[in-house]
Amino acid sequence: MSFEDLIRDIYQNIQQLEDRGETASYIPELSRIDPSNFGVHISTIHGDQFGIGNCYDKFSIQSISKVLSLILAYRILDHKIWDRVGVEPSGTAFNSLFQLEADQGVPRNPFLNAGAIVVSDILLSHLKHPKADFIDFVRTISNNTTIDYSSRIAQSEKEVGYRNVALCNYIKSFGQINNEPSDVLDFYYDLCSLEMSTKDLSELFLFLAHDGRDIASNKRILNERQSKRINALMQTCGFYDESGEFAFKVGLPGKSGVGGGIIAIHPDQYSIAVWSPKLNKKGNSYKGMKFLEAFTTRSELSLF
Ligand code: GLU
Repeated sequence: MSFEDLIRDIYQNIQQLEDRGETASYIPELSRIDPSNFGVHISTIHGDQFGIGNCYDKFSIQSISKVLSLILAYRILDHKIWDRVGVEPSGTAFNSLFQLEADQGVPRNPFLNAGAIVVSDILLSHLKHPKADFIDFVRTISNNTTIDYSSRIAQSEKEVGYRNVALCNYIKSFGQINNEPSDVLDFYYDLCSLEMSTKDLSELFLFLAHDGRDIASNKRILNERQSKRINALMQTCGFYDESGEFAFKVGLPGKSGVGGGIIAIHPDQYSIAVWSPKLNKKGNSYKGMKFLEAFTTRSELSLF
């Protein structure tokens, strides 16, 4: 069966499932999204594309942006970045504080909120115009000028960001944040507010299926070693404390966000994005997880 037929078939099956999740209500703007949205888009390294459902609608990618900020910081600091943030799965919730004390303010990995806050601090220290430079970077590597921040989402998150304020100040108390916490957090909220469709996401992340090179131009975004490491981190840490479950059921590197999006990469094959806003108890898209599990199982293509 072709990817297109398979996606169409699985989409229809999952569409009929009772959606057992809940939309993220802790960020007020996210709870207003129509929970029936469901979109899927795949881009392959051979140039094939297919999308279905709400695949062209932009949504809040939230933590998926943590991969993009990490990539930019990794390009700037290369391996020195690992002095500031670890590479171990945490087994804790995305916004957990409790390991930070034992780890002296060095977050376990860059996909925890704590880790992404440290990455935001690194970018603030190295970019002249952080907000403008970051969106330029994303638009350039994706060749997509329609990608933008949502000030509405960023503001909504800021208004209730008590946990992130605590994380940032706590890390600062260990001397692991160099800038003013309020500046770091404003930038962090902007990063999380990026809006993209599943089509935008699958096109943008395809270079990670291609050893770090853009498919069309063959230009390097990351070197091979860096690309391997980003994929490895997505594999081990991309789904909060459900990363093991995602590896077990789906078997691909990926990253989720509380907006209900998931991106997954099959190296040398494709990148696929799914969006369905209702989240399971661990904060990952309920239908998105089910879709990808069925997709890698029925296509008989995964890393394992
Ligand atoms: N902006 C969200 C937060 O800080 C990101 C959460 C996520 O998508 O994991 O809570």
